[in-house]
Amino acid sequence: MPDIIQLLPDHVANQIAAGEVVQRPASVVKELLENAIDAQATKINLVVKDAGKTLVQVTDNGIGMSPTDARLSFERHATSKIKTAEDLFNLHTKGFRGEALASIAAIAHVELKSRTAATEVGTRICIEGSKVVSQEAEVVAKGTTISVKNLFYNIPARRNFLKSNPVETRHIIDEFHRVALAHPQVAFTMTHNGSDVFNLPESNIRQRIVNIFGNKTNEKLVPVSEETEIVKVSGFVLKPEYARKSRGEQFFFVNDRFIKSPYLHHAVSSAFEGLVKEGTHPGYFLFLEVEPTSIDINIHPTKTEIKFDDEHAIYAMLRATVKHSLGQFSIAPVLDFNKDAGFETPYEYSKKSPVAPTIEVDRNFNPFKSGGGSKGGAYTGYKEKSAGWESLYVGLKDDFEAVPSTEAASQIEFESEEVTGRMFEAGETETAQISFQLQNKYIISPIKSGMMVIHQHLAHQRVLYEEFLRNITVKEAVSQQLLFPLEIALTKPDLEILRKVKEQLEHTGFLFEDFSEEKISISGIPVGLNNSNAGAVLEQLITDIRDDVPDAGFSLNDLLAKSMARAMAIKSGTSLNKEEREHLVNRLFACKEPTVSPDNTPVLITLDVTELEKRFM
Ligand code: ADP
Ligand code: MG
Repeated sequence: MPDIIQLLPDHVANQIAAGEVVQRPASVVKELLENAIDAQATKINLVVKDAGKTLVQVTDNGIGMSPTDARLSFERHATSKIKTAEDLFNLHTKGFRGEALASIAAIAHVELKSRTAATEVGTRICIEGSKVVSQEAEVVAKGTTISVKNLFYNIPARRNFLKSNPVETRHIIDEFHRVALAHPQVAFTMTHNGSDVFNLPESNIRQRIVNIFGNKTNEKLVPVSEETEIVKVSGFVLKPEYARKSRGEQFFFVNDRFIKSPYLHHAVSSAFEGLVKEGTHPGYFLFLEVEPTSIDINIHPTKTEIKFDDEHAIYAMLRATVKHSLGQFSIAPVLDFNKDAGFETPYEYSKKSPVAPTIEVDRNFNPFKSGGGSKGGAYTGYKEKSAGWESLYVGLKDDFEAVPSTEAASQIEFESEEVTGRMFEAGETETAQISFQLQNKYIISPIKSGMMVIHQHLAHQRVLYEEFLRNITVKEAVSQQLLFPLEIALTKPDLEILRKVKEQLEHTGFLFEDFSEEKISISGIPVGLNNSNAGAVLEQLITDIRDDVPDAGFSLNDLLAKSMARAMAIKSGTSLNKEEREHLVNRLFACKEPTVSPDNTPVLITLDVTELEKRFM
């Protein structure tokens, strides 16, 4: 019998390999985007036609390729990213198998244009079904553009196997999200059939999430952060009330690579146990950083599954960290599962000018006289305005009543109750009696479970933000007339930006006399502003609008309110007297969401007595 084994020709081998790497247009998107990241691009553009079936094109401004490298890049196992087997265990790049371009070129019409910084002229190569059709020098931009046309043109079975355009587009967008989320410091755009789908400026991770998933997402994020010897975790989980029936936004990244891990997913889900409804899935964007040597990415051709050395430890740590973040967050007394934290519902119309909430305290109540005073006398003033908040304070009274009056005196000196006890006896408002200011920056106040630290600048931002938002929505604000109109010179683009929000600005109290080519003239400003800072507030606003990409009218209002609140809030370093502190704290707790600033940073933290006790051990 003659020998029958023969080596497969390269193009056949490549086609077979392609089956593993390239399942659909989205796979091409992933490989090309990752190559651009590995090439240190800071700007990456993705162009897609017909759900990627006709064209997937990625342009980057990365390091580019020399003519020789450009040609070699299409060879199988051709990679610049590893040299030895050991390198496999210490990976810092997305790619390393040297298979993607070879695979793609085996099953599509591919055009590559590339140039490095070292040369004036670049290279253009066309390949069809692994055959180089042309290679020539061409003047091209620095970086690389790879266009993949007519995917699976030579494998009709696979081409027919592709799903409908909406489904394939969905897959492409998923891949785009994964890479874009892992690299917020890189600017991305995506267009599909000529229209813009995403335009993501370089930003931080929080902004990137918001830019991708919409402005409302910002309010839903709970920060997660922890570092141990084996892993560093950062990112966000979505508040439990936003858990969804369908698997929604669930992202794990390990060393900036998107991965799928049912095991780690379980860790996060179990941290949400009891907080989300049965059958709903919490959302998360979690970034794990580990030693590259402690993971194996090599177990799947698409590299979305990896193996950790310390899987169990990471599981436990992740679960605890997410739990902790949720716990910290749930100090939020307004954690009301039915409440929509979004901004669809405009603020209720209220004719009356805002009134600071008052607190009624039973002046006759003395916690140290058992049975003394009437129950429930305190805090009724809060109830209407900020349901739930008072729970932080309310139990105090019961605690005291539980202490027999004879023993009380001897315990007072050693227990924190003493301070809070006074607060009841003295009457007035509790914050007035017991708050003080630290470093002209924080307001400190005891609460039932320990103490509360309020960041004055952020607290004021929250207050102003809700006020502005209300004014803009209700279209009714108080304006202070200026004796002499204030003139501000602006560039044309800035003026255009301002023109877009003119109406909303008027609802906050601005009055414009003139809105001409290169200047504006202001005859009235919102209460709280003055001549000297009005200009700065507007400038801040213009910058904020320019940097953001407001999509709907409502998020523009949101942005406006945020920007003005930020510019006008009392700064850290401002000394506040007792009345001012009291006023601010009361206004804060009359807010819908007193615990976070408009940008979603915590406004206050609480320190548990138990935590304090631990520190004295
Ligand atoms: P891998 O990424 O696993 O190395 P690929 O087939 O994806 O394999 O790419 C092969 C090689 O081509 C890469 O190692 C890299 O040197 C080069 N390359 C691919 N895409 C780019 C790009 N956008 N910019 C610069 N070089 C690139
Ligand atoms: Mg690659």
